[in-house]
Order: sequence, then C-alpha cells, then structure tokens
Amino acid sequence: MYNINRRKFLGYFGCSCGSLLLPSCTTVPITERKQLSLISESRINRQAEAAYEKFRSKSKLILKGNQINEIRQIGKKMEFAVSAFFEKQGKLDPTKNFGWDYVLVDNDKIVNAWCMPGGKIAVYTGLLKITKNTDALSIVMGHEIAHAVARHSLERMSHAMTINLGTTVADIFLGGAINRTRNTVGQNTGLDIFQLGIMNPFGRKQETEADYLGLIFSSLSGYDIRESVKLWERMAKKNKGKEPPAFLSTHPSSAKRIENLDGWINEVILKYPPIKI
Ligand SMILES: [Zn+2]
Repeated sequence: MYNINRRKFLGYFGCSCGSLLLPSCTTVPITERKQLSLISESRINRQAEAAYEKFRSKSKLILKGNQINEIRQIGKKMEFAVSAFFEKQGKLDPTKNFGWDYVLVDNDKIVNAWCMPGGKIAVYTGLLKITKNTDALSIVMGHEIAHAVARHSLERMSHAMTINLGTTVADIFLGGAINRTRNTVGQNTGLDIFQLGIMNPFGRKQETEADYLGLIFSSLSGYDIRESVKLWERMAKKNKGKEPPAFLSTHPSSAKRIENLDGWINEVILKYPPIKI
C-alpha cells in the first residue's frame, strides 16, 4: 500500500531537478519528492526572519483574545505533532531549526494566511470568517506550515536562480524581449516576476503537495480533517464567479482541490492518527 501510494505520488509531483548539470537536490519529507536546492536553509530562514520582523512592525496586529489564542493553540499542537512524528520514524525533524511564531493581522478584507521559511506564521481576520471553526483553521495552518516543512520557498528561489542564469543568455538572442516583459509586468504589479523572493507565489505542484502534507499535519495534531472539504466548499462559494480557471492560477481550482482532498482523507486518517501528548 505504501509503495503504491508513493509511486502514485512521484507520478503526481515528478522530479524536476534530475536533468540539470550538477544537481543539488533535497528530498521533501513524507512525499519523498526530489527538489532543487541551491541555497542553504539557514540563509533563507535568516532572510525570512528579517522580513517577518518588518512585517510585524508595520501591520495592525491583534495581540490578545480568543482568536489569537486559538491560532497559537493549533500551532503549538502542530509543532509538537510534526516533531514527534519524524522522531518516532527515526528521521531528521525538518522543523528542528524553526523559530515558530504566530500573528493575527487585523484585516477582514484579506482571506489569507501564510508561513514563511522557518515557521513565521500570519493569519488574517478575513480568513477566520471562512474557516469558522477550529478544524478548518487547522487545515489552513497545516497547509501553510507544509509549505515551510517542504522548503517550497527555497525550491522556488533555486529555480529562479537557474532561470536568471538562463534568461541572460537567451535574452541576447531574443533582442531584449524577456527584459521588456519583465519591466511591463513590473510596472503593473510592482514586482519583478523573475526575481522571486521569500514570499513567492508557489507552483501548482507545490500547492497540491502542501494540501496533502497539511492534511497529515492536521490529522497528527488531532483535528477532524473531513472538515477540509467543507472549508474549500465555503471558499469556493465566496469566490464564486471570481475564481480564475486552474490553468491561469498557480493554485489548483476549488473543484480539483476538493476532489484531491476527498481522495486522501480516509487514507490519511488511517495512516496518520493523532500523536498522543
Ligand atoms: Zn499554498
């Protein structure tokens, strides 16, 4: 069963670093997907920490009350469960060097949460209106924490480095077309699309992987992961008519996401029961 699932997973996520010269790869915990890794974890964690401190000082945060307490409580359970899980398996704890921290941002208009490399987590009050309950919030937090555990930012940065090396050469032949695109997009968004920083948009493959790992972390922490389907149904309802088709968005479409989660729930409940404290 394990091998079949693992094969299914590798087929799903594939390996994108095998074809490069002198590949520098790491392996994503649990899914065992190979990923490109050209930067050190401590370097990206340091950068994230500085960015997080800046974010904290400039944002309107809610520092006490039920909501932030609930976020911290879910976070603590998850920190423990993830570490205990890898220790029990005799594997290196991928969160060993994390400096966990949680903030609640007072902004009802933003339906979002994120986790920077090294475990710096932000939840926006707008998200809590959709999650509505602890189990659903644990699903979102599990997903965000999964991005950090799977080192998705580091992977994304590593790819950006290879793109930058490649585009410099390619651009000579294309007469500056790449640089023109870069500047046009930059003017519209204020971002350099090729210069991916710590808060990268993740790829679809990474989003699907974070959904899967997030379910596992939530289940290990003792939450009811069947709530994930209801959560994404609520999210889809809120976004009705506004959701871009899957091929335009880096995120999977709600329908695809719900289909995936639905297919994983029973297996995850059986294979990754709550870790006792
Ligand atoms: Zn994500």
